[in-house]
Amino acid sequence: MKPKEQITIAIDGHSACGKSTTAKAVAKKMGFTYIDSGAMYRAVTLQMIRNQIDLNNLSDVEDILQQTDITFRYNSVNQENEIYLNGINVENEIRSTYVANLVSDVSALLPVRKAMVRLQQKIARTSEKGVVMDGRDIGTVVLPDADFKFFMTADAKVRAARRQKELEEKGVYISIEDVLKNLSDRDKKDSSRKESPLRKADDAINIDTSNLTFEDQVNIIIKAIAEK
Ligand code: C5P
Repeated sequence: MKPKEQITIAIDGHSACGKSTTAKAVAKKMGFTYIDSGAMYRAVTLQMIRNQIDLNNLSDVEDILQQTDITFRYNSVNQENEIYLNGINVENEIRSTYVANLVSDVSALLPVRKAMVRLQQKIARTSEKGVVMDGRDIGTVVLPDADFKFFMTADAKVRAARRQKELEEKGVYISIEDVLKNLSDRDKKDSSRKESPLRKADDAINIDTSNLTFEDQVNIIIKAIAEK
């Protein structure tokens, strides 16, 4: 087994199946760094929206990427890594509906993927601790040599209900139909895009969370790591 600080864990899967909360909890338990790759695509999307970039114009997309600086900073109050776009904390704004509705279109663009994959690999390489990264292409493209790979999924209706509850807790009220539509649209776009589509890595362990509690999800991963 590698030294703990070099261990990498990739968690991929469908939208809103509990990847991020699970990955965050696993990272906390292991004392590892958690990297939310979805937040990075969301921050780029926010940058495109703010600058009114035409996504069909790849040269404009490339130009704006040059002016996009994405970093994570540790917040010692809530003890979480938060995302910054050009030095400003955008952790809340990237969860808005207008970002959620566009993020799969932005993340399908080759220049965007190239830039984000490069940055994700650099963050993982330079981390002083082990890394847990969640997303759609972590086990297949970003960290193909990850020590542990998991692929999470759940029934779409269960996922929509969970996401709706999560949003309500943040004071955002959206009908279950609209939440379900956003998740299904994103899954479809993420799975069918040409560049690094969402897919389970051949060597990833499948976890269907439809009937699992949050503790179950975390324990399955911790147990798989402990057993190796
Ligand atoms: O994980 P989250 O739902 O926040 O991701 C938002 C979107 O970012 C996904 O629907 C997908 O379009 C994109 N994404 C991606 N590759 C990743 C992570 C996220 O394309 N590794």
